[in-house]
Amino acid sequence: MWFLDTAREIRDDLDPGLKLVTTTICDSREGRKRWKRLLRERGWTPEFRVMGVRPGSPFAKTHKTKCALGACKYVTGPNMYVDYNGDVVPCCIHPKAFVMGNMLNQTYKEVRRSAARREAILAMKKDRAGMEICGKCRKE
Ligand code: SF4
Repeated sequence: MWFLDTAREIRDDLDPGLKLVTTTICDSREGRKRWKRLLRERGWTPEFRVMGVRPGSPFAKTHKTKCALGACKYVTGPNMYVDYNGDVVPCCIHPKAFVMGNMLNQTYKEVRRSAARREAILAMKKDRAGMEICGKCRKE
């Protein structure tokens, strides 16, 4: 719970309007209910998703994964994913695909306008197939 509380404190200091969302894989209805209650008490919004095959995972070898082209909606859309150390990562599919900034010393707007994010979008549009992680991801 330390991470959730600390991240909210950082958000409150740097960008109080920012919505905090977790994305969790949880198959049990009871588990989702418990997680929702726990998160909402702490000012977070819970979301859930089904298990996906991450590029580079051992499962990727047994699943045929067709790479999508261009910049994915995770990078171009309004949401950002923040790792435990404040790093702003592109998605929860493969959080280490690249880093666009850090919420410990940047605001949401600064990360959105960062050169790192612009370069990542440009690289995806230009040659996504050539990117180590995103080039193997089917997310559009
Ligand atoms: S292409 Fe896939 S791995 Fe890359 S940022 Fe988008 S969702 Fe994440």
